Amino acid sequence: RSGPAAVLRAGVRSFSFEFFPPRAGTPAAEQALWQALRQAEAVAPSFVSVTYGAGGSSRERTAALTRRIAEQTTLHPVAHLTAVGHSVTELRQIIGGYADAGVRDILALRGDPPGDPLGPWQDVPGGLRYAADLVELVRSCGDFSVGVAAFPQGHPRSPDRDGDIRHFIAKCRAGADYAITQMFFRPEEYLDLRDRLSRAGCDIPIIPEIMPATSFDQISRFARLSNATVPRDLATALENARHDPATAHRIGVDHATALAQRLLDEDAPGLHYITLNRTTTALEIHRGLGSTVLRDHPPGAWYS
Ligand code: FAD
Repeated sequence: RSGPAAVLRAGVRSFSFEFFPPRAGTPAAEQALWQALRQAEAVAPSFVSVTYGAGGSSRERTAALTRRIAEQTTLHPVAHLTAVGHSVTELRQIIGGYADAGVRDILALRGDPPGDPLGPWQDVPGGLRYAADLVELVRSCGDFSVGVAAFPQGHPRSPDRDGDIRHFIAKCRAGADYAITQMFFRPEEYLDLRDRLSRAGCDIPIIPEIMPATSFDQISRFARLSNATVPRDLATALENARHDPATAHRIGVDHATALAQRLLDEDAPGLHYITLNRTTTALEIHRGLGSTVLRDHPPGAWYS
């Protein structure tokens, strides 16, 4: 196991999957997750990440799943952690728990307030306000690799792109090793963000997140929640295939494969697939990229 920061530092492209901890008492969901994790294990990704429930709702489940992946699989887990609803003392306990379990990779996020994700941020007494503060806290807790979030279409709360870039740079200065993006559907949005950050003097690897758009209803909901816009032709094609799941699947896989290929051609440092706890679609896209594209790809201009 080496983890994202070490893989990226070595100049090797990373590829990875995102999972979420199922609700307690849902054995079928738990079984599907473990089947997906075992499928992931078979292709030896650089890492897998485990999300932290919205509004800070899955503290125990995220920690338990991350520890179990570390102990019972050959996968390298990265734990998402948000500052929502936690005091610094609680955050230190969570981070310390990861260190005790040998988990040394954290994706440090601010998170969104419970209820309306775009509602006003709610400060917690003795808590943190921004992801940069959490990056600093994780760094102060020991030898961790720390990732952060990046937003190719701008963060929904940001009044302007320049402010967004300034705040992202603050996360880099606080010690972020790499970033993973929010979902997006046009390669230009990623390339524009990377160029802006590079011009501002920030060259940490930005791993694009790939969300296969295989269902009109699902992608409309996700895009709304994450403030991503779906290209009209993709949305129209998916809408026309609303009652034809096989065609919708093919449309989503083809679009994601073309997007991923273009990003790799443009020297993206890796790909992070959202799986929704099913790896089949991500693996289909991955196979479409050709077997030598990712793990054995030589270092590109993105790393020096
Ligand atoms: P920040 O970087 O703190 O930014 C939040 C907002 O504050 C931005 O608008 C920024 O421009 C602004 N800002 C930052 N610093 C300052 C400052 N000093 N002054 C004024 N404004 C400032 N959420 C979850 O709940 N659980 C998850 O597991 C999860 N995983 C994610 C994984 C990825 C790859 C991504 C991209 C997002 C994920 N999210 C998750 C969502 C994320 O928590 C939200 O998008 C959140 O609103 C922003 O988090 P951040 O870490 O980017 O915050």
